[in-house]
Amino acid sequence: MTPTPAYAAQSADQPLGPHAIERREPGPHDIAIDILYCGVCHSDLHTARNEWGNTTYPSVPGHEIVGTVTAVGKDVHGFKAGDTVGVGCMVDSCGHCDSCKAGEENYCENGFTGTYNGPAQEDGGNTYGGYSANIVVDEKFVLHITHKDNLAAVAPLLCAGITTYSPLRHWHVGPGKKVGIVGLGGLGHMGVKLAHAMGAHVVLFTTSPSKTGDGKRLGADEVVISKDPAQMAQHAGSFDFILNTVAAPHNLDAYLNLLKRDGTMCLVGAPPIDSPHPSPTVFNLIMKRRGIAGSLIGGIRETQEMLDFCAEHDIVSDIETIAMRDINKAYERMLKSDVKYRFVIDMQSLKDEARSKAA
Ligand SMILES: [Zn+2]
Ligand SMILES: [Zn+2]
Repeated sequence: MTPTPAYAAQSADQPLGPHAIERREPGPHDIAIDILYCGVCHSDLHTARNEWGNTTYPSVPGHEIVGTVTAVGKDVHGFKAGDTVGVGCMVDSCGHCDSCKAGEENYCENGFTGTYNGPAQEDGGNTYGGYSANIVVDEKFVLHITHKDNLAAVAPLLCAGITTYSPLRHWHVGPGKKVGIVGLGGLGHMGVKLAHAMGAHVVLFTTSPSKTGDGKRLGADEVVISKDPAQMAQHAGSFDFILNTVAAPHNLDAYLNLLKRDGTMCLVGAPPIDSPHPSPTVFNLIMKRRGIAGSLIGGIRETQEMLDFCAEHDIVSDIETIAMRDINKAYERMLKSDVKYRFVIDMQSLKDEARSKAA
């Protein structure tokens, strides 16, 4: 085992702080990765604070990981020391269910192993995520990064990027399609960039008029203030697809009315169990054969496809880089949506902190 500096929450009401963990020695199929950057996802905060009721402590969050390969097991052929790689939300899955066989490990019928807070398949232990200096991952769950620079801004593609890319692809977003993106946060800003790069006509829905300029800069052809019924009415029955990234409970009918016949709205933000969205009006669905769907990250093959697409189209996330010790402040700002549009931890700060403590 290799001792590794990390940041962990010790309980739901404690801030994150320094905590030493151990990483396994790389097995024949494993890759050891020195972590350069880790994005900060809302799921990290939900897990650290046990807001989904399933957290095992100590909890080391982080599933938007970019790093450098330092060692590979003897049976690893696709990677070598020095490669720039990524790790997203999963580090293992059963490998034999229908979803896994189809390359959709994110829908593994036996439950995939999360990069953090996921029980390991064999020993049942907790997994520790990217708020740490290094990680060891089975090569099947490691991604190639071909972006040449700005690697900090690549990190959020591993969760925010694939969470929006996968539904945009699944519902065939492309030239000639009118696509709505609801909400301009970590997910929404990636949705706007990706849908624009796929060639669709992109309409951003936001409650804040102050986000109009940013929406257009990121690639939206139009920005609609969703609180304004007159602006919403102008788009009635005109959308092929709407990607709704908002987790706060809200009236879905306002968006369902904007879909064409056979249009779909896909939800990727989940409201808390105890405060769901109001039920949509069934008539709105029936009259135009409209659909409501959901989508969860993406499989490994599709995540690689997304990373290659982003490298080719020069797409990264808009980020603010922070030091590891500032993570608790970052969580507070994230709760106020005071970030454009993703925090990314520069892991050098953690390595320096650990070194100065050892000295
Ligand atoms: Zn995430
Ligand atoms: Zn499976």
